[in-house]
Amino acid sequence: MSPRVMRFVEWTIGAPRGEAPKPVILVRCLEPGCDQESEASRSHMDADRWALQHAGRTGHTEYDEIARCRLVATQKER
Ligand SMILES: [Zn+2]
Repeated sequence: MSPRVMRFVEWTIGAPRGEAPKPVILVRCLEPGCDQESEASRSHMDADRWALQHAGRTGHTEYDEIARCRLVATQKER
């Protein structure tokens, strides 16, 4: 009889170890055919300013606000 190996691994996901979550914010224009988006920034003010300037230039008025965080998946054997 061959030996059987059973391995159970639990995964978790979160901010890199020892770091607080640090989201970056960007906004993306939702006007069909317009793929423009702001630079990612740690400040809402930068994204809002970009959207208002974009609205002023183009008349485009709807945006998605996107918050991105770097996450790390780690495994813990049990
Ligand atoms: Zn646009």
